[in-house]
Amino acid sequence: MAVEQTLSIIKPDATRRNLTGKINARFEESGLRIVAQRRLHLSRAQAEAFYAVHKERSFFGDLCTFMCSGPVVAQVLEGENAIERNREVMGATNPANADEGTIRKDFAESIEANSVHGSDSPENAAIEIAFFFSAIDIVG
Ligand code: ADP
Ligand code: MG
Repeated sequence: MAVEQTLSIIKPDATRRNLTGKINARFEESGLRIVAQRRLHLSRAQAEAFYAVHKERSFFGDLCTFMCSGPVVAQVLEGENAIERNREVMGATNPANADEGTIRKDFAESIEANSVHGSDSPENAAIEIAFFFSAIDIVG
């Protein structure tokens, strides 16, 4: 297995409930290392650009409204098999279907307000990391 980097976002439902530290502990306990982190408030245009891949989906408008409804914490997680590992730690998109002990099972409010984003492939991880961070921001 290779050491990888993936883009994570702690979403507005989680920052509103002051869960950044609890969620970060899940990453660290699973062997993922936070090698870059930035708190920011996305504009509508930034949310639409980040989720452009979903622009034809019925939930796109609501998702962008939600993602710019409060601060987010964007972060780069690094570790062995980090992209898949993070998806396991996050749990299924719909918290009703998420496994016990996952972030979404324990913290998500709904299929939309599901507390975390994680890249789904090496290609998207590279694109999504570059959306938020420069090489100089990432310190392994
Ligand atoms: P994931 O975040 O697990 O990769 P997707 O990429 O399919 O899931 O969807 C991106 C985000 O869009 C989800 O995390 C969630 O916030 C929202 N979303 C997905 N499906 C729905 C849905 N059916 N209704 C409302 N929001 C949704
Ligand atoms: Mg996705």
